[in-house]
Amino acid sequence: MNVTEPMRRAAERYPFAVTPHYLSLIREPCAADPIFRQCVPDGAELAAGSGLSADELAEESRYSPVPGLIHRYPDRVVCLSTAMCPTYCRHCTRKRMVGKPQFEVSAAALKAQVDYVRAHPIIRDVIISGGEPLSMTTRRLEEFLRRFRSIPSVEIIRVGTRSPVTWPARVDDELCGMLERYHPVWVNTHFNHPREVTPESAEACDRLLRRGIPLGNQTVLLRGVNDSPEVMEELCRALLRIRVRPYYLLQCDPVAGVEHFRTPVSRGIEIMKHLYRNVGGLGVPRFVVDAVDGGGKVPIDPSYVVRHQGGTLTLRNFAGEIVTYPDLPGRAHSPAAPDQTGTA
Ligand code: SF4
Repeated sequence: MNVTEPMRRAAERYPFAVTPHYLSLIREPCAADPIFRQCVPDGAELAAGSGLSADELAEESRYSPVPGLIHRYPDRVVCLSTAMCPTYCRHCTRKRMVGKPQFEVSAAALKAQVDYVRAHPIIRDVIISGGEPLSMTTRRLEEFLRRFRSIPSVEIIRVGTRSPVTWPARVDDELCGMLERYHPVWVNTHFNHPREVTPESAEACDRLLRRGIPLGNQTVLLRGVNDSPEVMEELCRALLRIRVRPYYLLQCDPVAGVEHFRTPVSRGIEIMKHLYRNVGGLGVPRFVVDAVDGGGKVPIDPSYVVRHQGGTLTLRNFAGEIVTYPDLPGRAHSPAAPDQTGTA
């Protein structure tokens, strides 16, 4: 691979690291390769003039009551447990913080996070994210789980990790056994392309599943990586085969340094239509946009309601045919004003 000057400058601005496993998945050393594109710095990360900020979702500026904790929705918080990652994804939403030691969570900061959650019993779901939580030692990660699990109002703990993709050997028996001790624990993985679903990844997921840890996957819709209906279908099918439920398809966030990965929302809707038509419901993720300024996640579905009139619902089915359904009396559904329920 030729290291170009723009690559070098991008790596100076945003950290660069890649695991041997993830590096081995590259077939062509160029940006047309979906694995290369996700892990090798690109001069496009430095594009000026987009007007985008590094914290467009206002995670830090509005929704961080204590350092390293994001409280955006009533019942759940995100704990940014570490800033380190074994592989730095070029499309990372948290480019502003990853790789920067000043974002590490000190003992005092963890205590402040735990005190905050304890003082807000409305919080029932703690998402341990980062950075890559599995870049910490198992003992250090256990400290987070142990402290949050000691809070009576916390019902579930979720761990968000890309390690099954980039560093599957990290998901070893010791780690899985530790997670099992803090059930109910859920794990969200981050597979973006079918070539990331390797035998090693499948084994890592199997080790988690055998400990009773349900797996859901969050895919980011990325230009030049997976913005094609066929690639997304292949990914969803590959995930089902390794017993990982496609959970979210996330519109790429408008943050500085990742603009070259963004696609129009219409592309995501087109992909969703394809998935609804070709994949069983278990393999269809929910397509969501994270609104700027902390507006939260908003699901975007292709509308299948054509008309709701006189007790009859007129719908378009998966094959594009018009079908009807005899509805019960109630408020008419307006296709122009879909329900928008915040989710995470
Ligand atoms: S592993 Fe997660 S936090 Fe780390 S760079 Fe990738 S997307 Fe960002």
